[in-house]
Amino acid sequence: MLVTPSINVLIVDNDITILQRCRELVLNEGHKVQTAESVKEALNIVQKHPGDVDIMLLSLELPKWGGMSLVETLQKARSAILIMTMSANCGEEAIEAMHAGAYDCIRKSFTTERFWTKMNRAIEALRLRRQLEILTEQRRGALSRKLEANTLMCILNSLTYGLVVTDGHTNVVLFNEKAARIFDLTEEQVLFRSVSDCEKLNEFSSFFERAVKSDSSLSTLMAGEEPVVKTGAKMLRIHADPVKNRAGAVIGAAALFHDVTRVSTMDQLRGDFFSMVSHELKSPLSSLLMQLSVVVDGLAGELTTKQADLLGKAKEKTKGMITLVNDILDYRRIQEGKSIQKIERLDVADILNRTVELMRLSSEEKGLNVVCDISEKLPAVTGDRGGVEAVFVNLISNAIKYTPKGGNVNVSLNREGKGVRFMITDTGVGIQSEDIDRIFEKFYRIKTEETRSVSGTGLGLSIVKGIVDAHNGVVHVESEVGEGTTFIVSLPAEP
Ligand code: ADP
Repeated sequence: MLVTPSINVLIVDNDITILQRCRELVLNEGHKVQTAESVKEALNIVQKHPGDVDIMLLSLELPKWGGMSLVETLQKARSAILIMTMSANCGEEAIEAMHAGAYDCIRKSFTTERFWTKMNRAIEALRLRRQLEILTEQRRGALSRKLEANTLMCILNSLTYGLVVTDGHTNVVLFNEKAARIFDLTEEQVLFRSVSDCEKLNEFSSFFERAVKSDSSLSTLMAGEEPVVKTGAKMLRIHADPVKNRAGAVIGAAALFHDVTRVSTMDQLRGDFFSMVSHELKSPLSSLLMQLSVVVDGLAGELTTKQADLLGKAKEKTKGMITLVNDILDYRRIQEGKSIQKIERLDVADILNRTVELMRLSSEEKGLNVVCDISEKLPAVTGDRGGVEAVFVNLISNAIKYTPKGGNVNVSLNREGKGVRFMITDTGVGIQSEDIDRIFEKFYRIKTEETRSVSGTGLGLSIVKGIVDAHNGVVHVESEVGEGTTFIVSLPAEP
């Protein structure tokens, strides 16, 4: 027997002599045997362990036409058991049993040789039947896999995005038709070659390498934004992700390329217009604020309480507009990849001291207790002065804005490795955990009872993240609603 080393035979006969003889013959050849003396007993065995019987040697001379009824029952149940009937003369009922599904008939007056001639044929038939089943199953699997692969490729080719997939060593394993059109790719040029070796893709190799390392934080320039890369005359928005197997292990990378050339041109024009308007508004607003301050402070003559109140409100609104204009300009700069304008050696302690002093007035107006603790021996850090200042201003002004009257704000600056670590803790309203992931998105503002009256643009933290990323630093938040918030910014010695 080729399929299994031994086969399982069930012998069903009420003639004990025949039963024992068959049993002995089958056992002698190393096969396994079970016996039953009635149809009921045989059915019991088959129903309890259907896989335990390969061949049934079934007497057609069981009382009350029993053998024949068992053949029919098994046939109806589409049983895989191969039935060999046994009868005195293998006459009409044996032929009828074969019509009903039995394979052959053995005369009960058999010799050992005759028995094995018939049995071996049955075993061979069983082997062929099993092999056919396996082949059919395999063919069905191959057909459905081919169908799946074809369907999948049709779906990928219908995408409006270019898709390039690599293995864990950044060798290209798949790309769709849109990617072929964007980069003018052919299978011979790129398939199974490393992205960095493909002339048309190598400028994007860092995206695939980062995705393979699962370093998604590096693949975006700003929170909630995908980088746009200019390649030739095209502008492509890129989104690269690691490809993981079922166990969660990274086995490759997949990058989507969206051709945004037209949109980018429009965006650029719109952005330039915003920058221009903001620039034009900045100087008149600053002089308006100065003049209002002179009047509110009584330097241009005494004011009635009503006048002082109205002009004070006008002054606050003007301050808000200046913040908005500054935020728009900062944000544009980061969007254009210009968050670092000039790299220089920075005295971060001095920048922080000045910023805290600058904000002292607004913290005192709110009755907040601001404590600043700057470590003495800080390493020299290089970076963009304006950028680092903007990080401090945004985080300190947020702590002041979102901490109710009488609260505390603690600011500290310490050494961290070769760089510095800035930490600001407030006892303010706090941030819910589901919002923490989103506060760095541009224009994201949390609207609660406590924050509704606080003015802002929702740009401050996206500016902070953009600047810190550009310095190769890290910003981290911890918060507890009603207890307060801590922002930690780590800046390396050099960007
Ligand atoms: P905004 O101009 O609204 O302050 P930001 O980008 O600076 O914009 O902040 C986004 C949101 O994050 C804010 O609207 C606020 O809800 C929340 N947030 C920022 N800093 C704090 C803080 N220190 N305490 C509580 N909430 C904060």
